[in-house]
Amino acid sequence: MIVGIDAGGTLIKVAYTENESLQFIKFPIAEMDRVASWVNEQSDSKVCVTGGKAGVLLSLLNQEAREIVEFEATHLGVKFLLARMERQEESYLVTNVGTGTSIHCIENDRQERIGGTGVGGGTLLGLSHLLTGVTDYEEIVRMASAGSRDRIDLKVKHIYEGKEPPISGELTASNFGNNLFAVAGELSKEELLATVIGLVGETVSTVSVHAAKQCGCSTIIYIGSSFFHNPLLKEVVTSYTLLRGATPLFLENGEFSGAVGAMSLL
Ligand code: ADP
Repeated sequence: MIVGIDAGGTLIKVAYTENESLQFIKFPIAEMDRVASWVNEQSDSKVCVTGGKAGVLLSLLNQEAREIVEFEATHLGVKFLLARMERQEESYLVTNVGTGTSIHCIENDRQERIGGTGVGGGTLLGLSHLLTGVTDYEEIVRMASAGSRDRIDLKVKHIYEGKEPPISGELTASNFGNNLFAVAGELSKEELLATVIGLVGETVSTVSVHAAKQCGCSTIIYIGSSFFHNPLLKEVVTSYTLLRGATPLFLENGEFSGAVGAMSLL
């Protein structure tokens, strides 16, 4: 068996082949021992690990394993998953919305990390919890989908009352910037969670569009577990990326890019 593992800040992503087919599985980082035991039970396996917690995982394995720098693994994995979707893109930006957000420019088959932001999936979980007490990721994204940001965010058109704004009135002028003092006590968890997702989505897409302009590409490939079962984040990122003039693309199983890239080295 060939196994690629990406041990990140929040989740461990595992890609492996079984009967010639590619399988994916995720574990919370707290279950690293379980992942190590599973790997140790496989006989005749080849393993390659990547990610910030790769060293810790390696120390728990009974067998030799390779290690690859995560940015390189992600680059290889994105290429593989793009080909699997029969896409022809050659130069593009990759925005990995993991615990934090990392942005890479891919050109001539080489990747360069050109920036990032601390606003990412960790922000989504942390702010959501602080504002509403909800801790479970699936519950956060489910409740957020039922919420509206109208009473919490301030849009450009709200500021340009009765006047044509010089930029799209639909852009957010200020996340959480509406007149909150009047409504703070009445806001529902759903509204607050939707607005957190809006903040994360608009920040990562805005930073990505600037980065895409800087490296001269128009397609932005979004990956990372923050998009998993999260249609609202995808919707915010899609509309903001398009509004700002670039083309978004979500990779199928994109959160496994690092794990798949690690596998491809074996
Ligand atoms: P990392 O490699 O840093 O662990 P990921 O790409 O795995 O990053 O993304 C982590 C983010 O994915 C979390 O911050 C959270 O927003 C989201 N997420 C998706 N599924 C889960 C889950 N089951 N538990 C916790 N967070 C999840």
